[in-house]
Amino acid sequence: MGGERNGDVEKTTIMIPQVKFTKLFINGEFVDSISGKTFETIDPRSEEVIAKVAEGDRADVDSAVKAAREAFDHGPWPRLPGSERGKIMLKLADLIKENIEELAAIETMDAGNLYSLGKMMFVNDGAQVFRYYAGAADKIHGETLKMSRELHGYTLLEPVGVVGHIIPWNFPTQMFCMKVAPALAAGCTMVVKPAEQTPLSALFYAHLAKLAGVPDGVINVVTGYGPTVGAAISSHMDIDMVSFTGSTVTGHRIMEAAATSNLKQVCLELGGKSPFIVFDDVDVDKIAPLALNACLFNQGQICVAGTRVFVQEGIYDKFVERLLEELKAWVVGDPFDPHVNQGPQVTKKQYERVLWYIELGKKEGATLLTGGKPLDRKGYYIEPTIFTDVKDDMTIAKDEIFGPVMSIMKFESMEEVIKRANNTKYGLAAGIMTNNINTANTVSRSIRAGSVWINCYFGFDNDAPAGGYKMSGFGKDLGINGLHKYLQVKSIASTPIYNSPWL
Ligand code: NAD
Repeated sequence: MGGERNGDVEKTTIMIPQVKFTKLFINGEFVDSISGKTFETIDPRSEEVIAKVAEGDRADVDSAVKAAREAFDHGPWPRLPGSERGKIMLKLADLIKENIEELAAIETMDAGNLYSLGKMMFVNDGAQVFRYYAGAADKIHGETLKMSRELHGYTLLEPVGVVGHIIPWNFPTQMFCMKVAPALAAGCTMVVKPAEQTPLSALFYAHLAKLAGVPDGVINVVTGYGPTVGAAISSHMDIDMVSFTGSTVTGHRIMEAAATSNLKQVCLELGGKSPFIVFDDVDVDKIAPLALNACLFNQGQICVAGTRVFVQEGIYDKFVERLLEELKAWVVGDPFDPHVNQGPQVTKKQYERVLWYIELGKKEGATLLTGGKPLDRKGYYIEPTIFTDVKDDMTIAKDEIFGPVMSIMKFESMEEVIKRANNTKYGLAAGIMTNNINTANTVSRSIRAGSVWINCYFGFDNDAPAGGYKMSGFGKDLGINGLHKYLQVKSIASTPIYNSPWL
């Protein structure tokens, strides 16, 4: 294939892999859906069909849950010593690394993620998540209790059971690995539903898991749509927990389905509208490029995108000028091209939705500083777009757009910006740019969000729990918290003396 650079003559030559896995993965086998139906997955660069993928339904979810239930209730996985589970997970991490180019290319075709970042970051990070949790699998400890009566007491941490993972399309690899690795380490079995827009990589990972030695039935993948496969998972009576990442709207539905079925545990990682706060003591030359990346990374399709950029009045003009300067070197184009900063939006629907918000921003009275148009070429490409004169109550300042659209707002004081940054239903992340330690400390403690990054952005790490406050959800991915959500606590008490008079 070739990647073009904004009309440039430069071409790249990357082998597009053949799609090998398009069927459901149930009980260790690739199978057709019971209905025999398929759906198309589209390349956002060309708007062409990449492959037809098995379209699962409630009956396929039943079959996947049956396999996962059997593997949990009677299979070896939950009963293996943690160190043995860890060994298999390390093998899986090795296999991911061995297939890194193919996996990165699949994500570029299916999701429009940058290929260079796929290799360096997304798939590589996926392997690292398996390594991190492989190391934790034999360190799952309970506590010895100090009982008030003559009893020996201790707690056991046990796997929660069969988990349903429902994941979105923006980072298919990382979402899969971040959910599956801790659940595997805990000893759970699972049914994974990748997003219908990006179903391919989850099937590839399931294949690698089998090669690594994960027993049949432990990981099952059912591809298909949210209202069918997703709804069947969240309402299933034999699933013990749903771990979901996606929109707040779907989060409501999943919680309702859990509440009206078997009261399964629910963990929700939802949307965001994160503030990126720039105080006037910073070096604008350093912070402007960071702000751009915080908003535009992955085409703006990242839940923690720093889309509300608050800039203190003393440096406001200089900051805006510097942003425009930076944008001159920002390249939109084929995500296989290593020179490209921004690829296409994932689907036509998302592309149209982003353009709709841009029009709304203009109608609401914000000033369109730059961008705002689709690129004149095939594929779902949109110019990086910056609005100034944005008011806090404008829709573009309140809704999660999930595209390359930044809103810049001016502020005077720290107290004012804390109030305005918190004036959102979301609470996923925040960036604070300042050289003043008192400002950094005060603002980081005052912001109601699950991750706060000071003088950096996307400060993710395998050891750093990530997740929301408020309507951005609850429960954490990553870190030891990300493992503990797949464990439940059993309290055990015994008498030290047979026939104790105490009992
Ligand atoms: P979405 O909620 O539409 O879809 C996410 C997943 O839910 C998909 O697999 C989809 O098929 C499934 N789904 C849809 N309807 C369902 C239903 N009724 N029942 C069960 N499952 C259903 O979200 P999206 O548009 O695909 O993804 C973008 C959203 O995800 C954004 O809001 C973004 O902020 C959020 N997100 C959050 C995080 C985080 O960590 N907090 C990370 C990435 C994305």
